[in-house]
Amino acid sequence: MATRTDPKKDVVIIGLGWTGAIMGMELANEGLEILALERGEDRSTVPDFQYPNIFDELKYAVRYDLMQKPVNSTLTVRHNTAETALPYRHLGSFLPGDGVGGAGVHWNGQNWRPQAVEYRLRSYVEETFGADIIPEGMQLQDWGVTAEELEPHMTKFESVAGIAGKAGNINGEIQEGGNPFEAPRSAEYPMPPLKNTWDSELFADAARNMGYHPFPRPAANASIQYVNDYGMQLGPCNYCGYCERFGCNNYSKSSPQVCIIDALKRKPNFSYRTRSEVLKIEKAADGKTATGVTYFDDKTGEEVFQPADLVLVCAYSL
Ligand SMILES: Cc1cc2nc3c(=O)[nH]c(=O)nc-3n(C[C@H](O)[C@H](O)[C@H](O)COP(=O)(O)OP(=O)(O)OC[C@H]3O[C@@H](n4cnc5c(N)ncnc54)[C@H](O)[C@@H]3O)c2cc1C
Ligand code: SF4
Repeated sequence: MATRTDPKKDVVIIGLGWTGAIMGMELANEGLEILALERGEDRSTVPDFQYPNIFDELKYAVRYDLMQKPVNSTLTVRHNTAETALPYRHLGSFLPGDGVGGAGVHWNGQNWRPQAVEYRLRSYVEETFGADIIPEGMQLQDWGVTAEELEPHMTKFESVAGIAGKAGNINGEIQEGGNPFEAPRSAEYPMPPLKNTWDSELFADAARNMGYHPFPRPAANASIQYVNDYGMQLGPCNYCGYCERFGCNNYSKSSPQVCIIDALKRKPNFSYRTRSEVLKIEKAADGKTATGVTYFDDKTGEEVFQPADLVLVCAYSL
């Protein structure tokens, strides 16, 4: 039961990772009053990802300092419907984020676009191999949107995040050195590809000589100095290798804070609260319309009702 009710906002965002930051920026630009609630701590490149502390492998890679703690909140898993789902006690390959930036702090930054056919996989398999090949109950589906429809949004994200890569297909024209099988894109990547290592060069040469089309993987790791449309700056990657499980100390790995959040913080119609875990989305009497959220304010120990016209669940998407 909430012990405090705060003034109403137009929008409340649950979770401040990539999704929350992107939605926050888009809606703040529309002039809406926005509050983001993040369960974890506040985090910025300085002081949280500073050299040399961020290279502490025991703290970050082994003890998962930047991630959700199963002791506080975990996932349950079962192998079939007859089993009772049991909680994860130790995270494995899925390492959900906890704190401002979410998983976007400790991700790698590989930034592939799906191939056109992947958006209509069920249709493609039926057309190519016949409907009978899909076993009953197999959850193979078309997405309901096409590569063409999503293309402008992919391009926008690549521009905000500053993706390094080499286009393989611009408006239907195959580009030398890129992935010839990618769906048509409207523009080149905002940054040139990262440098290859010597062994990758040898591999690429060998593949090319065999008639294949090696291409650099698209990366959210800056290859050059870059400033995005929000005025956020990235510096060239120094190839330290501490991407996954660590925050980048060099403003080179695209993250919500490096690419969006610092610009978002300057907007008077955006605010955010940390250590604020949303417990429930409250609904109107119709049982459908969200009226706000109840969250636990860890700083005061209170349960708070935050009314809002729009509730965006940006809390977990891995
Ligand atoms: C180790 C790792 C490597 C990855 N590498 C890649 C890669 O190379 N390429 C790629 O495309 N993707 C990669 N991903 C996936 C990608 O990082 C995520 O899909 C993406 O960051 C998700 O962003 P999000 O904002 O949707 O969710 P999240 O980043 O999970 O953010 C959700 C936020 O919500 C908060 N939250 C959760 N519950 C509540 C609550 N009840 N109340 C308040 N706040 C809450 C969390 O603390 C978190 O900060 C990787 C992920 C991980 C973990
Ligand atoms: S400097 Fe480059 S390799 Fe090192 S963490 Fe940042 S993006 Fe990753």
